[in-house]
Amino acid sequence: MTANMRFTEPNKKVRLGFRKIIKVQRGQDFVEALAWLSIVAVVSMFLLDGNLAQIKLETPPTWLTAISRLTALVATDILLIHMLLVARVPWIDRLYGHDRATLTHKKLGKPILYLVIAHFLASLISYAITAKTTIVNEFFTLALHSGRDLLWSILALALMIVVVVSSINIARKRLSYETWYVVHLLSYFSVALAVPHQFSTGTDIAGKWPQTFFWVTLYLFVVCNIAWFRFLAPIVGSVYHGFKVIETASESSDATSIYIGGRNLKRVGGKAGQFYILRVMTGKEWWRAHPFSLSAAPNDKFIRFTIGKRGDDTSLLQLIKPGTRIILEGPYGVFTEDRRTREKVTLIAAGIGAPPIRALAESMAARPGDINIIYRVRSESDAPLVEELKELSRRRGFKLTLLEGSRGNPKSWMPAHPENLPDHARLSLIAPWVSESDVFICGPAPWTKTVEKSLLRAGTPSHQIHAEEFAW
Ligand SMILES: Cc1cc2nc3c(=O)[nH]c(=O)nc-3n(C[C@H](O)[C@H](O)[C@H](O)COP(=O)(O)OP(=O)(O)OC[C@H]3O[C@@H](n4cnc5c(N)ncnc54)[C@H](O)[C@@H]3O)c2cc1C
Repeated sequence: MTANMRFTEPNKKVRLGFRKIIKVQRGQDFVEALAWLSIVAVVSMFLLDGNLAQIKLETPPTWLTAISRLTALVATDILLIHMLLVARVPWIDRLYGHDRATLTHKKLGKPILYLVIAHFLASLISYAITAKTTIVNEFFTLALHSGRDLLWSILALALMIVVVVSSINIARKRLSYETWYVVHLLSYFSVALAVPHQFSTGTDIAGKWPQTFFWVTLYLFVVCNIAWFRFLAPIVGSVYHGFKVIETASESSDATSIYIGGRNLKRVGGKAGQFYILRVMTGKEWWRAHPFSLSAAPNDKFIRFTIGKRGDDTSLLQLIKPGTRIILEGPYGVFTEDRRTREKVTLIAAGIGAPPIRALAESMAARPGDINIIYRVRSESDAPLVEELKELSRRRGFKLTLLEGSRGNPKSWMPAHPENLPDHARLSLIAPWVSESDVFICGPAPWTKTVEKSLLRAGTPSHQIHAEEFAW
């Protein structure tokens, strides 16, 4: 089977207008209100427990203890929210998309660390003052002579520092994705090490049933979501469907399409524009999963990804053999027709950003003339999926513009042009109704930012711009 020129029937209809987006926004408000409410609940429990009354300004240990306890409670609550954001939970993904959830997760990392450090220092200093000893002596007493739970919690803090430092941009750029991923897995270990001391020595939880009930429920909710959605569901789903590579096809000098077959593909449930995390079950690769977007609309015959050679694993994937077992995690992402509000659509892709754009062009409900596709390529003869986009455009009556060649200037996302018009002016010539349309962009992160700027200058409102960045 060469599915190169096989197309799936497009969606029959789509609900346009802003009402569905308002519904999503209400869902986001609800989830955010719950998150804030959990923090309010934690602080209220602390205050209702009479902790404020016990603070005597003239005796530092009492207010240091209060700081230590409050920072610990708030940090733990935000930490659980932080973990849930990357648990790949469908209800979070549907509301925010994987990239926005990941961005919020990143932003919360440092505040959590600061709160945990404040908790640690406030406890240490307060114990040292009470015991009339030095901070260094008190540290060793806590670590070595105060029971296993406290020693573990100190190790948990050390691990947490490693995880947060590895996520800071400068450090992150120096690490391979795999190293960063393994370091990040340590964060689960760090939380597990910190839990016992909260229940055994935490004055606000130990022996108090409403607080214990609150925290046990919160922990169980987060742990069950992570265990099921992040770890078990992909394995159960992939075993049920029996995903295997059924065919590969070279798309360009550095891109290959991989067709994955399996039982009951109708029930997999992805949408054009979404992505999966693909795990190749060979001895060498099973522990390194990578995200790839669907490059063909979902159908009951195959799931297709088109993979550009970008590094070590994507080079190996160019050579994958039919029969290789695959585990798929997903589908994820909100780069789909569900976010479309207007009749007219502009699809803009660069290089290996073509796969989701190709799938959207195939599946979107549209009349001839409704969709304008712009594909930025180094060379037309070596661009992945270009022939399929041409064929789709011909069949469905869409306009396809290929922008070929090197950039006119470093700030531009378009090839050089004799008239030297700014990008937004050229964009308006290529897609005259670009300001009236929903625009879906997919390509490298810096390129996507430049396209977004010229769309805004061309008059496209920001809520009509949808982007999928191939970045982590
Ligand atoms: C939502 C999403 C959808 C994507 N869809 C496609 C697609 O359809 N086709 C395609 O060819 N590529 C796609 N990518 C990019 C693809 O995941 C990376 O090129 C791939 O993971 C690189 O792996 P590597 O080991 O070969 O490269 P490495 O040598 O590890 O790195 C090469 C580059 O890829 C980046 N990268 C590495 N691992 C990841 C990761 N897990 N997530 C994101 N970026 C990573 C690195 O930062 C680096 O810039 C997508 C990325 C994302 C985030």
